[in-house]
Amino acid sequence: MDKRTVRDVEVEGKRVLVRVDFNVPLDAKTGRITSDSRIRAALSTIEYLVKHKAKVILCSHLGRPGGKVVEGLRMRPVAQRLSKLIGLPVLIVPDCIGAEVENVVDRLNEGDILVLENLRFHAEEEANDSSFAQSLAKLADIHVNDAFGVAHRAHASTVGVSRYLPSVAGLLLEKELKALGGILSNPGHPFAALLGGAKVSDKINLIQNIMDKVDLLLIGGGMAATFLKVQGYEVGFSLVESDKQTLAKQLVQTAQQDGVSLHLPLDVMVAESMNTQAVGEIVSIGGIPPDKYIVDIGPRTIESFCRELVRCRTVFWNGPMGVYEISQFAKGTKAMVEVMATLKATTIVGGGSTAEIVEDMNMTDKMTHVSTGGGASLAFLEGKSLPGVEALLDK
Ligand code: ADP
Ligand code: MG
Repeated sequence: MDKRTVRDVEVEGKRVLVRVDFNVPLDAKTGRITSDSRIRAALSTIEYLVKHKAKVILCSHLGRPGGKVVEGLRMRPVAQRLSKLIGLPVLIVPDCIGAEVENVVDRLNEGDILVLENLRFHAEEEANDSSFAQSLAKLADIHVNDAFGVAHRAHASTVGVSRYLPSVAGLLLEKELKALGGILSNPGHPFAALLGGAKVSDKINLIQNIMDKVDLLLIGGGMAATFLKVQGYEVGFSLVESDKQTLAKQLVQTAQQDGVSLHLPLDVMVAESMNTQAVGEIVSIGGIPPDKYIVDIGPRTIESFCRELVRCRTVFWNGPMGVYEISQFAKGTKAMVEVMATLKATTIVGGGSTAEIVEDMNMTDKMTHVSTGGGASLAFLEGKSLPGVEALLDK
């Protein structure tokens, strides 16, 4: 990586403002944290800073308060969970900038941990307002960006503060960039991309950018419908993005030209509707009824995808194979998690839903890397530069 990290700067005795991604999912009714994986992912940087005697000031957004205080989106439960996970006391303050916060920061000792209040209680955060960024910068001597999940956004806490403080990467951000960067720059071959999810339009840029790097492209999920359609198959009620058909055709051609072996479903599960009572039926792709939806890949497809994946040295997976939120339509997706977990390959998982499924199945440790950034991992693999990374000091 060509950016400086927290290891490249002297942090002892320094006030270090760390932008973390503590945007954890909360239960809509109780407000409780339903998964603390993002907090756990931030631990390595926090522990590093504590060990090296920094005064650790953590800041994050949580949910979408839209620039005003929303009681249910305060950082207190996050700070409490962090305290439990790290086994140390964690201080909180009722805001993220201002005199009261500055007073608390002034009294911090080496190794103390403070969590600032939700950044997005101020509309200036997302607007990348410079005086808000300055107020944040005033709290610290060094800025560490460890929030890979928002690295594709130019906000005050990710980019704005870099104008006023030396900015370096945190250890999680570094790990993400190494893992995702590795599959773009130096993947082991055969290299497969396993792609799914709802829409082709979400993934077209990704496919285009990785096409000349992969050896195999396996496509399932809702996006397979557009590819099947351009190959002349009936896809029933499944979403076909008409304006993307030409692009899908071109991608099929490019795959052929580049010698990329493209695998579409051989069979699929179809259903009358996408609700929890719906009953799925397996049909071959030549027999998709005109009045049903494709909801999952079928058993022959699962078998063929598994056969391809086991011979790969690198696999990147993004996007569920079916409407996994409904348990009877989750078989294909679960089968992919299971096979990925057994591969003797570099296995990288990106995407919000995909990471969540791996996490729910307790398989995160079985993958080489599960990205904490949904949108950011896609943006990176699409070849876009990430403003939150650009803003960091070069090595
Ligand atoms: P990720 O968040 O991992 O990048 P996406 O957001 O692209 O994944 O896609 C996730 C969504 O794709 C899920 O909500 C899932 O229900 C949907 N999906 C997968 N297969 C289908 C399908 N056959 N029809 C409709 N939606 C699908
Ligand atoms: Mg998603």
